[in-house]
Amino acid sequence: MKRRGFFKLAGMSAAAFAASGVLAACGAGQLPADPLRSGSDEGGGNPSVAGDSGVSFSSEVDVLVVGSGIAGLSAAMAPAEAKRSVLVVDKLDLLGGESYEANGVMRVAGSAVQQRAGLHATVASEWRARKKELEAAGTTDFEFARTLFEAATSWADHLADEYGAQFADPAEYAQDDCNTSVLLPKGGLGDMESVMVPLRDGLASKGVSFLTGLRAKAFILDEESEVCGMRFVANEGGSMTDVRARCIVMATGGFVSNQALVHAYTPDRERAGCYTVASMGEGQLLCASIGGQLTGMDKAAPLTGDLPQVSAWSLFGPVAAVDTQGVRFAREDGSGATADACFEDERGLWWTVFDGQLSESSQSRSIAELTSKNAKRIAGPCDDEDALAGQMGVPADKLKATLERYNEQARAGKDDDFGRTLFLKPLEAPFYAVKQQPMRYRSRGGAATDGMGRLLNATGAPISRVYCCGAVANGGSDGLASNGAFGMLAGQAVASFLAEEDGRENA
Ligand SMILES: Cc1cc2nc3c(=O)[nH]c(=O)nc-3n(C[C@H](O)[C@H](O)[C@H](O)COP(=O)(O)OP(=O)(O)OC[C@H]3O[C@@H](n4cnc5c(N)ncnc54)[C@H](O)[C@@H]3O)c2cc1C
Repeated sequence: MKRRGFFKLAGMSAAAFAASGVLAACGAGQLPADPLRSGSDEGGGNPSVAGDSGVSFSSEVDVLVVGSGIAGLSAAMAPAEAKRSVLVVDKLDLLGGESYEANGVMRVAGSAVQQRAGLHATVASEWRARKKELEAAGTTDFEFARTLFEAATSWADHLADEYGAQFADPAEYAQDDCNTSVLLPKGGLGDMESVMVPLRDGLASKGVSFLTGLRAKAFILDEESEVCGMRFVANEGGSMTDVRARCIVMATGGFVSNQALVHAYTPDRERAGCYTVASMGEGQLLCASIGGQLTGMDKAAPLTGDLPQVSAWSLFGPVAAVDTQGVRFAREDGSGATADACFEDERGLWWTVFDGQLSESSQSRSIAELTSKNAKRIAGPCDDEDALAGQMGVPADKLKATLERYNEQARAGKDDDFGRTLFLKPLEAPFYAVKQQPMRYRSRGGAATDGMGRLLNATGAPISRVYCCGAVANGGSDGLASNGAFGMLAGQAVASFLAEEDGRENA
């Protein structure tokens, strides 16, 4: 029999931990900190490593999910539905992570919501276009990306049917071959609350517990060096909480906000700023501390603008991006193409020029909100190009020539300069423009997993009881729907593992 009192800690080094920064609010609406299920108190005063005190479990659960973004919450679904005890812990004071802050463009094809809107696109019919998009964004594992694209359909359906997640009616923003594989939250861009709050509440009603303000610091290993729990440190006061779990799902997001890791893996991007402190790469470091393999972290992810919703406007109406010289320099409808080109060509910042078609589009709420909140960086309404150039502070002759050429190409239906296809329509006065600069908003690569989300070691073997999903994992860097689907698949694998283990023990 195991001596269950013997535990070791395997965690982030002090240096890596110090790089982890401060807290940021993320606004998902804080759940009351549910008391943990009472559990065994084992191992107090036992051996410890790296100066940490002995392990003392304050609670015991079947499944511990670390991180409450879309991947973590989606991973909690299957175990909760199988009536397992599930605890979700986040280091921030509010649930939701970056997922809650995201624009909400979810790449999904063939969901029930889309079918009800009369869209006939399926995963099969949309895969070619999606693959092209992923390719442009740096994806290399297309087999797994396709698995996630497929799973995203049932993920969206399950979120709506089982949890009451609210999506916008695709008939409002998808026509012909435009946006046929896009789901948006009910209120459009910037409203992930419509998806994540029902999910959180549905999980809570199934018995899932949530704790915030606790940062995962070290895996707890038993005497056979098998993972059996996680140590957390409280943001306020620094007290330790040890949680024992049969399975741990790491869903801690990417590392794009960790300057040290960006410097180490994608140094060419270190000069671009970032948004949040959610994505500090702590999960990747924790996984590495127990022998998990980290892969693909040197692949730079696309950038976006520092007003990310503005970067998504080009999916819903015509815009033209011009630099400080009034010159167009990139296609506007690619995943991060404008921000990438602006950064790589050292243009510093760019202007997104738009007209009434966008402000009257399906995303009018986002446009009205962003323009009123950022009045100092908005130009317009302007009755002609000269007035617009004056407000933007760019050479009027160049801006005029740029917009004339753009409109010419739009009327011809072919963007010979940059290959833009979506909403290639002429712009007409009154004109507006909004100023942006490139920012990092996601990373690539991370913990290596198999298709079930099991963490793999250097030889490719699974590390028992540890799963990863979403942006913490190598396969999960491609946005909300694929990270949600990844979470769902990992959660299903955890639920099956526990059922099999119970079956073996009861046999
Ligand atoms: C501004 C912005 C806009 C975006 N817009 C879109 C979009 O429109 N469409 C799209 O597909 N993608 C978008 N993305 C990308 C998308 O948000 C991410 O791909 C996705 O949110 C990742 O989900 P996740 O659950 O893996 O990570 P997250 O949502 O970041 O969740 C990770 C959670 O883990 C917690 N955590 C981290 N470390 C610890 C620790 N040590 N202990 C405890 N908790 C920890 C964090 O606090 C966080 O809550 C956007 C990203 C940003 C920043």
